[in-house]
Amino acid sequence: MGDTRHTKVLIIGSGPAGYTAAVYSARAMLNPILIQGLQPGGQLTITTEVENWPGDTHVMGPDLMVRMQEHATAMGAEIIGDYISSLDLSRRPFTAQADSGTTYTADAVILATGAQARWLGLPSEEKFKGFGVSACATCDGFFYRGKEIVVIGGGNTAVEEALFLTNFASKVTLIHRRDSLRAEKIMQDRLFKHPKIHMMWNHEVTEVLGTEAPLGVTGVRARNVQTGAEQIVPCAGFFVAIGHAPASELVKDQLALHSGGYVAVEAGSTRTAIPGVFAAGDLTDHIYRQAVTSAGMGCQAALDAERFLSGH
Ligand code: FAD
Ligand code: NAP
Repeated sequence: MGDTRHTKVLIIGSGPAGYTAAVYSARAMLNPILIQGLQPGGQLTITTEVENWPGDTHVMGPDLMVRMQEHATAMGAEIIGDYISSLDLSRRPFTAQADSGTTYTADAVILATGAQARWLGLPSEEKFKGFGVSACATCDGFFYRGKEIVVIGGGNTAVEEALFLTNFASKVTLIHRRDSLRAEKIMQDRLFKHPKIHMMWNHEVTEVLGTEAPLGVTGVRARNVQTGAEQIVPCAGFFVAIGHAPASELVKDQLALHSGGYVAVEAGSTRTAIPGVFAAGDLTDHIYRQAVTSAGMGCQAALDAERFLSGH
C-alpha cells in the first residue's frame, strides 16, 4: 500500500502550463503539488531552439523548461517525478492514483497534460526529427528561408502550416493521401490560389531522405496510393501535420471533450464542467498550441483555482 497525500491544488503535467500554474499557485500560498509525468518539461524538451519565448531571442527548449521548473520550486511548489494513472473527479476531494503507489487527494485539480503531435511512424522520420523533420511550422518555419518544404496532411492544420510556410519557403508541396482535403473551404481557396503551393494528391510519404553529416533532410520518397509509382520530392524541411492527440485519457469519461479529444472549458476561463477542476495549455487548445499561450492558461488556471478555493 502506498502513501496518501492531500494538497489544496494538484497540478498534473510539467509543460509551460503546469509550471506556470505552479508558480502562481505557490505564490498564492496554496502549496501546490505538481506531478511531472513521463515527459518532465513537456513538448519543448524535444526541440532545439525556441525563438518566440518573450524575453529570450534564442533559448534551447530543454533549458527553458529547466528554468521553469527551478522557478516553480523556488516559489515553493513541490515537484514530483511520477505519473497519474487514474483520476476520480466524481467527488471532492478529488483522487489521483500515481504509478508510484501514492494516492493524491486534492481540493482543486489543474489538468495540464498537453498534447502530442501525431507522426507517421517511419524510422527515417524519427531519425531526422529536429534536423529537418518538424511538426510545428510556427516554431521551425524560419529555419527554411528560401528553401523547398514538403507538408503532409489534409486538415486545417496542414493547410495552415503550408500557407504559413510560404512566408519563408521558395516552394511548398502539400502531400495528401486522398484527392480532397478535409480543411475548411475558405482555407482551401487560399491554398489553391497561392503561387508557391504545389498540391500532390493521392500520395503518401514512405521515407524521409537526407544526409548523415551533418544530419539534414534532402527530400522525401512519395508513393502514389493508386498506382504504387514512387518519386522523390526534394525538400530541406518536412512538416508532418496529420493531427494532434491531446492527452485527455485520464478525463475522457468525466469531462466534455471537443475537436477530437480536447478538454472543453468555459469560454474565457479554464473552468471545466466540474467545479474545482481546471484545464490549461495544449490539452484544451486546438488552435494556438504555443508555449506562451499554454503558460498564459496555466496562470489563468491557478487564479481560477485560487478563487474557487477561497469561495469554499
Ligand atoms: P506539454 O508541453 O505537452 O506538457 C504536457 C505535460 O503533461 C508533460 O510534462 C507530460 O509529462 C505531462 N503528462 C501527460 N500525461 C500525464 C499524466 N497522466 N500524469 C502526469 N503528467 C502527465 N511552442 C512555441 O511556443 N515555440 C516553439 O518554438 C515550439 N517548438 C515546438 C517544437 C516541437 C518539436 C514541439 C512538439 C512543440 C513545440 N511548441 C513550440 C509547442 C509547445 O511545446 C506546446 O504548445 C507547449 O509545450 C504546450 O504546453 P503544455 O504545458 O500545455 O503541455
Ligand atoms: P485532422 O482534421 O484530423 O486532419 C488530419 C489530416 O491528416 C487528415 O487530412 C488525414 O487524412 C491526414 N492523416 C491522418 N493520418 C495520416 C497518415 N498516417 N498519413 C497521411 N495523412 C494522414 O487534424 P488537424 O488538421 O490537426 O485538425 C484537428 C482539429 O483542429 C480539427 O477539428 C480542426 O478543424 C481543428 N483546427 C482548427 C484550426 C482553425 O480553426 N484555424 C486550425 C487547425 C486545426 P484524411 O483526410 O484522409 O483522413
